[in-house]
Amino acid sequence: MLRFTTTEQAYPQTRDASARKLDFNEISSPFNAADAATQASRCSQCGVPFCQIHCPLSNNIPDWLKLAAAGRLQEAYAISSATNSFPEICGRICPQDKLCEGNCVIEKGFGSVTIGAVEKHITETAFAEGWVKPVKVTRETGRSIGIIGSGPAGLAAADMLRRQGHSVTVYDRYDRAGGLMIYGIPNFKLDKNIVARREKLLKAGGVKFQLNTQVGVTITLDALRARHDAVLIATGVYKARELGIAGDNLQHIFPAMEYLTASNRKGLGDAVPAFDSGVLNAHGKRVVVIGGGDTAMDCVRTAVRQGAASVTCLYRRDRANMPGSAREVKHAEAEGVVFEWLASPQQFTGDAAVKAVTVQRMRLSAADEAGRISVEAIEGDTTTREADMVIKALGYDADDVPALFGAPELRVSSYGTLAIDRQFMTSLPNVYAAGDIVRGASLVVWAIKDGRDAAMAIHARLMSEVQRVA
Ligand SMILES: Cc1cc2nc3c(=O)[nH]c(=O)nc-3n(C[C@H](O)[C@H](O)[C@H](O)COP(=O)(O)OP(=O)(O)OC[C@H]3O[C@@H](n4cnc5c(N)ncnc54)[C@H](O)[C@@H]3O)c2cc1C
Repeated sequence: MLRFTTTEQAYPQTRDASARKLDFNEISSPFNAADAATQASRCSQCGVPFCQIHCPLSNNIPDWLKLAAAGRLQEAYAISSATNSFPEICGRICPQDKLCEGNCVIEKGFGSVTIGAVEKHITETAFAEGWVKPVKVTRETGRSIGIIGSGPAGLAAADMLRRQGHSVTVYDRYDRAGGLMIYGIPNFKLDKNIVARREKLLKAGGVKFQLNTQVGVTITLDALRARHDAVLIATGVYKARELGIAGDNLQHIFPAMEYLTASNRKGLGDAVPAFDSGVLNAHGKRVVVIGGGDTAMDCVRTAVRQGAASVTCLYRRDRANMPGSAREVKHAEAEGVVFEWLASPQQFTGDAAVKAVTVQRMRLSAADEAGRISVEAIEGDTTTREADMVIKALGYDADDVPALFGAPELRVSSYGTLAIDRQFMTSLPNVYAAGDIVRGASLVVWAIKDGRDAAMAIHARLMSEVQRVA
């Protein structure tokens, strides 16, 4: 139990910044078997596992660490996959520093157990050894569920519902399944083949995909309700927040998702005219990214890889109060990104296209009602940054789903997200919702949790109806 006192914390090797910024490949090499076992053995098997408590999926982390330390990886995979539909994805992109690892009780002075890297090792070994198999349904229930949205919430729900023997069809407006895991999060954090591998498994298990299908445009919600016994809405949140400052409408100022989607599509081999013409490509440009969350970190690091002349990130609070993962900031700094803390854009200037950003210096002030530290402008303290391209990464709000789906009866919260009851049902009978469209912009791990829980609620409801009829 006290191995952590003699064995130092070690993460898998990260490629040198000068090499990794030349491509979009993942930056960490995997653990080898011996290192994974050694690092897993640092778990103190404490009585109250805070790592598990702070994992949205309540992953039984101490148990699979113990098994991994003993080299019993097949059993470790069985335990880790019992609570998580996509552990290899969480192992790569969960902000472990804020969740499991951040709450590891040995952290003080010794460095937490490197949980995410061990989770990735267990799951990649499981794939390599052929332990990850498509679902084999022994008895079909004859019930059918339509899932709108193929992000982590929709895919996790599809996985769980198919396991119960239901017929499942996933609809997505895009040409590829995966949601933000494909078109938002860059390849250097999550290789697209990892997501495609799961889609393939789901298909092999009988989940049907109907892509290029935008509900509300290609097909109506009513038509889906008539086609399926239940419908799950897992459409995420995509309405980009705006700055509303002078010059906001100049050319070469882009919302983050437009920029990241173009880059991801390019990486996937698609023709992207706006990228190829140079408009949505940071190559050779002075790039300014605005925001301090994960999306902003992905934008700055993408711009570096596209060969930007310089990349500056403006964030209105300080480093300690930024919402993004501290680990990502460290990676970005190593790759040459300059962070300007307590800096907020006041206006953009240029002729037709942006040429400069006027930056207002800020200072921290009292916390707001939610306990979040506020900022205020330091009057008269402004500077100018030249810029050829500006990317806005200010966060997302929910789209107006009732209007988009032609379903005004769908109730929403005061934030515009879909309102659900404890069984994940919306105000429309047999229409459920899960993921960011309920929670607001969040994390993949929460989307997986919501998708799984919504699936089990749908299953319970459908099965109780079957019993009533019988
Ligand atoms: C740039 C970026 C980086 C991020 N990085 C991380 C990270 O490192 N770690 C982390 O944990 N989280 C990260 N997140 C957050 C995470 O990606 C989301 O919380 C998560 O993907 C939400 O899952 P979801 O299934 O609810 O929605 P989404 O992943 O958004 O999927 C929704 C799907 O619904 C589809 N859809 C929408 N409307 C319709 C319609 N009308 N008809 C049919 N289909 C529709 C969309 O095309 C999409 O495929 C990041 C987010 C962004 C934007």
